[in-house]
Amino acid sequence: MTVLAETYARQLSLPGFGVAEQRRLAESTVLVAGVGGLGGATATYLAAAGVGRLVLFHPGRLERADLNRQTLMTPSWLGRLRVHCAEATLRRHYPDVEVVGVPEPITAEQTSPFLMQADVVVDARHNFPERLLLNRLCVQRGVPMVEAAMNGAEGQVSVVRPGETACLACRCGDGDPEWEPLGFPVLGAVSGTVGCLAAIEAIKVVTGWGEPLDDRLLALDLERMIFQTLPVARDPACPVCAGSHGTPATRTPVSAEPAGMSAAS
Ligand SMILES: [Zn+2]
Repeated sequence: MTVLAETYARQLSLPGFGVAEQRRLAESTVLVAGVGGLGGATATYLAAAGVGRLVLFHPGRLERADLNRQTLMTPSWLGRLRVHCAEATLRRHYPDVEVVGVPEPITAEQTSPFLMQADVVVDARHNFPERLLLNRLCVQRGVPMVEAAMNGAEGQVSVVRPGETACLACRCGDGDPEWEPLGFPVLGAVSGTVGCLAAIEAIKVVTGWGEPLDDRLLALDLERMIFQTLPVARDPACPVCAGSHGTPATRTPVSAEPAGMSAAS
């Protein structure tokens, strides 16, 4: 048995998930926007599943109040850039996964070069300006996106296939102020749950395994343990995706490293 087959033996025995799916994961690049409690869990389980390359975006430094949900970080790292903390832990736990950390928010200039290398994007940012910008960039580039968000005990997950399924702007317009108040409540297990769900959806998009949340929104109320899958539809007047027809992105070879790549932490 090869090392790869031995490492992933338990997921290779999933019905419909075999060596071809595992190879697709190993050859894939996933961009995770945000490595907070949600995106950190997403990155962890994508790495554990054998994704080949993770690109992580996150601005800001680790604060004590982050530790209730930051399982990739330790109290001794307070004050360090969070994305480099996440990089360091992921590299230690999953040495076969290439991890690139960018200590920046989502901007067109910084993010676009990495988008062209990504097979799928996971939006784990907490604010609508960045989420909507990332949505727009993914639609423009034809890159599929897993959209995941949480607030308190609530969570939402959906999948955006540019030109094929509803995008974030179809569903939320200019945003929902109730989902981004300053200092919104976070129970780490809630953000981690939503992050794991996002990882599962990204794995489905990359491999073709399972049934992703295309044109569906998974809405979670973890205080009352209510899980609902709601239909969502494209808005024919959507300012972002109306008129787009799912032109596939031309992926840039991974060897073409764009500017802004972080040094090893
Ligand atoms: Zn749209």
